[in-house]
Amino acid sequence: MRATVVTGEWSPRAGARLTDEERAGHWALDATTAWRHPRWQIGERETPQLRGPTDVLVKVRAVGICGSDVHLFETDADGYVLLPYRVRLPVVPGHEIAGEVVEVGRDVRDVGPGDAVAVQTLHHCGRCAACRAGLPSHCSDAEDSGFSIDGGMAEYVLSRESNVRSLDPLRDRYDESDLYAIGALCEPASVAYVGMFLRAGGFLPGGTVAVHGCGPIGLAAVALARAAGASRVLAFDTEIARCKLAEQVGADTGHHLGTLRDAGDAVADVILQSTRGAGVDLTVEAAGAAATVLPDVERSIAVGGKVVLLGSESGAAPLQTMAYMLRGASLHGSIGNIGGLDPVIALHAAGRIDLRPIVSASYDLDDGVEAIRRAALRQDAKILVLPNGGARPA
Ligand SMILES: [Zn+2]
Repeated sequence: MRATVVTGEWSPRAGARLTDEERAGHWALDATTAWRHPRWQIGERETPQLRGPTDVLVKVRAVGICGSDVHLFETDADGYVLLPYRVRLPVVPGHEIAGEVVEVGRDVRDVGPGDAVAVQTLHHCGRCAACRAGLPSHCSDAEDSGFSIDGGMAEYVLSRESNVRSLDPLRDRYDESDLYAIGALCEPASVAYVGMFLRAGGFLPGGTVAVHGCGPIGLAAVALARAAGASRVLAFDTEIARCKLAEQVGADTGHHLGTLRDAGDAVADVILQSTRGAGVDLTVEAAGAAATVLPDVERSIAVGGKVVLLGSESGAAPLQTMAYMLRGASLHGSIGNIGGLDPVIALHAAGRIDLRPIVSASYDLDDGVEAIRRAALRQDAKILVLPNGGARPA
């Protein structure tokens, strides 16, 4: 089959803390410590085959490019990838996947050939302490399609019954191509859902929300905050187009950081003015720039407020601990989307959220390298690759 394949050089940094298992298997829980000189190419890859009774083979119809994919494309000055996450190369990237089921194992009950599905890519182990505690997104022994096993920038991807979700509920409201675009968007949207509502505990109806960073996860956070009954949703981004998108999907105001800076207005002051000095009940850090964002966040948390960290980055950020203590505020880290796909599909099916406007470009599979290059410019909200036809001119 045709596929985008990422290869690289296994070259652990001096002093890299890798386990014997990682060294022997040439994989790293933190790819920045060992994978160097990544190369993205389009080529042939063996078509995956069903291996177990609950396996599901999916013909990929849409796959989103994520900031973490860009971090597996870009490198630091020494040539190491920027992605602080589990990676085994070579790999087919792509973890925001929707497609059509083509074949199922003999024990699969809930989906069959022809069904449209969204694919949840983390294959959690079910045995580790995190899985036993009901936090499978934080599994310590997982494989993840698109990072440590093959993902969706290919004609086909192998999944399993417990990892696919039917997109059938969307058929009343959306046509075939929108169905798959939404299916792919459900991954970043469910990352926002899990962080905001499952990990941080959400906010009460009438609460106020600030979203810092309007990439796909931030934009989904805006839409979810609106759907969940926020009285005020404020969004902030460096790109004017993304600020407009934030307003389109549910923000009261999408504030452009450059314009605020030119006017001498601090983000925290904008939030405080918009909330009559109270600050916001829920803050979402989706910019992956905590060092820049947190000083404003810390001045604009409501008493009892919650801050959820969703943006990935490998740097450090100073924390003003008293800001949290004085307001009885809490800080929540979250990664992954397990538990978020079903509600996000249901919200789309019910017409309560609509993330279609955030797709800004789509590419054929053979133009996958061009797609990742464009994503690296960081001007788009969401770029889709459509491996089995349907791409529209960018
Ligand atoms: Zn586990």
